[in-house]
Amino acid sequence: MASAQAYPSSEPERWKYLDRIRTRAGPFTNDGIFDGSMVAGQMDKMKILVIGAGGLGCEILKNLALSGFKDIHVIDMDTIDISNLNRQFLFRQADVGSSKAEVAARFVEQRVRGVRITPHNCRIQDKDEDFYMGFQLVVCGLDSIEARRWINATLVNMVDDAVEDSYTPLIDGGTEGFKGQARVVIPTITSCLECQLDMHAPRAAVPLCTLATIPRQPEHCVEWAHVIAWDQEKPFPELDKDDPAHIGWLYQKALARAHEFRISGVTYALTQGVVKNIIPAIAATNSVIAAACCNEALKISSSCAPALGYPDDNYMMYSGNDAIYTYTFKHEQKDDCPVCGNLARELDVDPAWTLGELVESLAARPAAQLRKPSVRAAGKTLYMQSPASLEAQTRPNLERTLSDLGLREGDEIGVTDPAFATVSFKFKLKFTKKS
Ligand SMILES: [Zn+2]
Repeated sequence: MASAQAYPSSEPERWKYLDRIRTRAGPFTNDGIFDGSMVAGQMDKMKILVIGAGGLGCEILKNLALSGFKDIHVIDMDTIDISNLNRQFLFRQADVGSSKAEVAARFVEQRVRGVRITPHNCRIQDKDEDFYMGFQLVVCGLDSIEARRWINATLVNMVDDAVEDSYTPLIDGGTEGFKGQARVVIPTITSCLECQLDMHAPRAAVPLCTLATIPRQPEHCVEWAHVIAWDQEKPFPELDKDDPAHIGWLYQKALARAHEFRISGVTYALTQGVVKNIIPAIAATNSVIAAACCNEALKISSSCAPALGYPDDNYMMYSGNDAIYTYTFKHEQKDDCPVCGNLARELDVDPAWTLGELVESLAARPAAQLRKPSVRAAGKTLYMQSPASLEAQTRPNLERTLSDLGLREGDEIGVTDPAFATVSFKFKLKFTKKS
């Protein structure tokens, strides 16, 4: 492995074009900030954190190393699976079973001399604020919304007006099939990921009655086999989604049902995709989005051009479904954002609902998506998920209606969820009669 001192004299050719961007002012450079004699030195010292070493993360690491960043950390708790090898190109067959963060770091260090990559083989939640405070930039290449929300909340909570270094820009990349997005969050200053949560609405569940009576799509037939036929016939003691015999059984059932309703399109792959909730990962989409994210990192760190979010457009969406299409716009910060806003968010509820129904609805609402919420109102605990003793004590409240619990129109409730240890979501009740 090369030592850090090897740069830049070891491979001047490699950095020739990058240095043209970093050393010369151009039409988009910010004259007030850009100093071509300083940029390379500043970037050498910058500490940058990459979250995720999967499909996006591998691309991001490689791109950052080739964009002139020298001190990169990467965090990922996963190990390499054989099914990753078609797109997570820093991994080889011999790496199966090893830590993604460690293998990716070693690979890029060997290929790009002078770069130091420090792997962290753990969950992001295992690191504390001090750890995250050590970085000037965070780049996310995650596939989980929960992990994104956690790091977003953590970075926003870290902001301390008195400490200039406490504003750590977050660059977030995401892909789903042929679609993707790249966005930049400047905590508390621009719209955060929580403000934009409704862009990730959970996939609408198909009503059971549709599955049971009139399926319209091949997916409905698969869901029918999965939810209804499996339960009725119990062909195996327990469904193992990785067992081809189990998926094969579901496929045959779904196919028969599809024939009955003259629906085409049920295949083994579709069955597997629906049952395992798989959205195909596409290497080309990952590479487009990772490139966009790393461009933002280069712009933010060098001031060679205005980055997303400085000050307006902060969200770039990409779609490769029918053709190549991108659209960049400003996603507004929300005053009632539970993470970066000051106002409680309005929550439509029916006063006749039980607390249990309210708790359930928090998981389904696109703007909340809280799966294990605990609820308090005006100093009193209505329902706590843990510890067990408190859960048992507050459980009877789940059966009581909101009005019965003394909740009134305009009352504020505080909701916490173990996925967001530090954040309490504020909601303001708005009574609306449902049917
Ligand atoms: Zn926000």
